[in-house]
Amino acid sequence: MINNRISTISFFKKISYNKKLQQRSIDDINLIVIHCTELPDLRVAREYAERIIYPSGTGNCGHFYIDTDGQTYQWVDLERVAHHVRGFNTTSIGIELSHPGRYPNWYHADDQDITQNYPQQQITSLLKLLDTLKISIPALRFITGHEQLDTEMITAKDQPNIKIRRKIDPGPTFPWATISKHTQLSFLETTEDYE
Ligand SMILES: [Zn+2]
Repeated sequence: MINNRISTISFFKKISYNKKLQQRSIDDINLIVIHCTELPDLRVAREYAERIIYPSGTGNCGHFYIDTDGQTYQWVDLERVAHHVRGFNTTSIGIELSHPGRYPNWYHADDQDITQNYPQQQITSLLKLLDTLKISIPALRFITGHEQLDTEMITAKDQPNIKIRRKIDPGPTFPWATISKHTQLSFLETTEDYE
């Protein structure tokens, strides 16, 4: 229980390297990228996000994290470029939904089906966050998923003759229809729709 309480408190803190991330203007942001953590819970997601993997003393992290109970946390300032997607970081906001995805066998050929639904309270919180961001960021125009932007195929870890997707998040159970009904942001099917 004590561990849980400490974790919850730390979720309200920005990521430790927040101020080391490259600065940008709010006007540079026009895209929201939806992710799922592909991890068992938010505590583990925080551990991964805190890992330093770049020479700048930073790591991979989204701007926002939404837990399965709908609680929303901001780990990176909007005026900072977070590393959450290849090629689109400088103009985007990363929103991570806590969801197991393919965990723990992300790259095993027979574990590529994502079947777990996103809880209603998590999606309700996401819609609220999208509304807030649309109001506070005038240039915001697009929304898409990580899997739409990163379509790389890689060799399965357990079966070298099979190719799998490097990224399938937020995955097939993510309710895109609900999102597009609610928001005025345009959905990017592919990177070619992005200008
Ligand atoms: Zn992702």
